[in-house]
Amino acid sequence: MRLLLIGAPGSGKGTQATALAAHYGVAHIASGDLLRSQIRAGTPLGTKVRSYVESGDLVPDELVLEILTPELTAASDAGGYVLDGFPRNLEQAEAAYRLARRLGVTVRAAVYLEAEQEELLGRLLRRATEEGRADDREATIRHRLEIFATTTAPLVDYYAGRGILVTIDAMQPVHRVTTAIVDGITALPGAANVAGGTAE
Ligand code: AMP
Repeated sequence: MRLLLIGAPGSGKGTQATALAAHYGVAHIASGDLLRSQIRAGTPLGTKVRSYVESGDLVPDELVLEILTPELTAASDAGGYVLDGFPRNLEQAEAAYRLARRLGVTVRAAVYLEAEQEELLGRLLRRATEEGRADDREATIRHRLEIFATTTAPLVDYYAGRGILVTIDAMQPVHRVTTAIVDGITALPGAANVAGGTAE
């Protein structure tokens, strides 16, 4: 199973990706976590991406791909992944598509976690006090929500056009969201191929 999760900051991507990875028995790959661990480890790449992450800007595509490509390739070879936080713009979506083609695989579904801005802001401010993330200050949160609206949200139409979009109301309780995602994926046309063990 190969899945992408699209959602604004605070929409529950991380929580759902963890549950879905366990459900399907595949890896959970979170671009933000990978970037933060490079920063913590003080690698050259971590040094390059630090200012972007802390200010809530998108890290340049080539740097994100440098980190993600080996992870995605390994997970794909091992049976699949739930990708959380990537792609974040159309260029990254095209790069993900090219990589999947090179690996001879296809992504089964792009799951859009839909939520209201005010609810997201509240959730992120609560997380700020709980986790102390450098990019969870109110101004930075607003900036990240804006980047989602202008740059990432167009991916919803992109994946709808490819016929693999599953849109879920992310304001429901966590376990309901998970169930709705699994049901939505099963209901996608072509789902029978998955059980048949084709390129999915
Ligand atoms: P996240 O943990 O997904 O909220 O990501 C935290 C931060 O990491 C974002 O605000 C960006 O600075 C950076 N980031 C994560 N994923 C990407 C991506 N796919 N492209 C560019 N920047 C990213």
